[in-house]
Amino acid sequence: SAKRKGRGRYQYFIPSMQEQAMARSILERDLRAAIEHEQFELYYQPIVELSSGKTFKAEALIRWHHPSRGLVSPAEFIPIAEDSGLITHIGDWVFRNAARQASAWQNKYDTNFSVSINTSPFQFHDPTHDVLSWLQFTEKLGLSARSIVIEITESMMIEPSDEIQQKMHLFREAGVQIALDDFGTGYSSLAYLKNFDVDFIKIDQSFVRGLTPHSDDKVLCEAIIMIAHKLGMQVVAEGIETEEEYKLLSKAGCDYGQGFYFDKPMPRHQFEKIFNKA
Ligand code: C2E
Ligand code: MG
Ligand code: MG
Repeated sequence: SAKRKGRGRYQYFIPSMQEQAMARSILERDLRAAIEHEQFELYYQPIVELSSGKTFKAEALIRWHHPSRGLVSPAEFIPIAEDSGLITHIGDWVFRNAARQASAWQNKYDTNFSVSINTSPFQFHDPTHDVLSWLQFTEKLGLSARSIVIEITESMMIEPSDEIQQKMHLFREAGVQIALDDFGTGYSSLAYLKNFDVDFIKIDQSFVRGLTPHSDDKVLCEAIIMIAHKLGMQVVAEGIETEEEYKLLSKAGCDYGQGFYFDKPMPRHQFEKIFNKA
């Protein structure tokens, strides 16, 4: 009967939810250990200037080498880090490592190199998070603040708290650049762009994937690029996988591109080959 079927389903979901909660709490425990045992690594993905084909920017993307599970995706563990408050600590680690790497690469290869660093709104809401200590850290490295791009998500632009506004202001004053990541996926109200200045808009890969000469996505990309330029911002297209996508975006005046068509995110030693090629 339907009733029995319903009960069967009910019994099916409860253990699976328990299992999920259990898996999550195990991951959270492992995440604490990961910080202590340095199981994180930053990969770097080239951000290519479309007009010249040159690479002097990269996005730092965190990787977790889990002792038994292997590589765990940030899409899986960042939300857990956010829920548990560990994100502030992880975010500090990411910032310091990326800044140190940018400084080393500037000294060795290219003084124009800049690094893009992903951040979570949760870390900026945390009162123990200290923007000034980040700025002091870069200063000690001799790294110009302009060489750092902080990637934020749209959720931070919607009614930003005083604290967030203050932190963004500190970044701006120091010369740190700001990029709006995954543009077009959230509420996507252009009004948010008035809440604070950003230097770059990153068009989300869902608009780039499958871009063809007559698609709606092409119209949307062109419109975003035009508006961004009129507002004095530059545009990065994410997730470019094909030559056609690259050509259409280039033609539309997109400033930078990132994606498997150019290169996948890679360990730092591999990334150095990009400098040697240039
Ligand atoms: P995101 O910031 O939008 O980063 C771009 C993601 O797209 C990366 O996934 C990258 O590997 C992937 N990608 C790049 N080009 C292509 C392409 O051509 N095709 C496809 N299919 N994918 C492409 P990844 O490294 O797995 O990171 C996922 C998300 O995790 C990031 O999205 C970001 O939101 C978050 N994340 C990564 N590292 C950090 C970090 O250090 N801190 C924080 N808070 N979040 C991070
Ligand atoms: Mg990003
Ligand atoms: Mg993105």
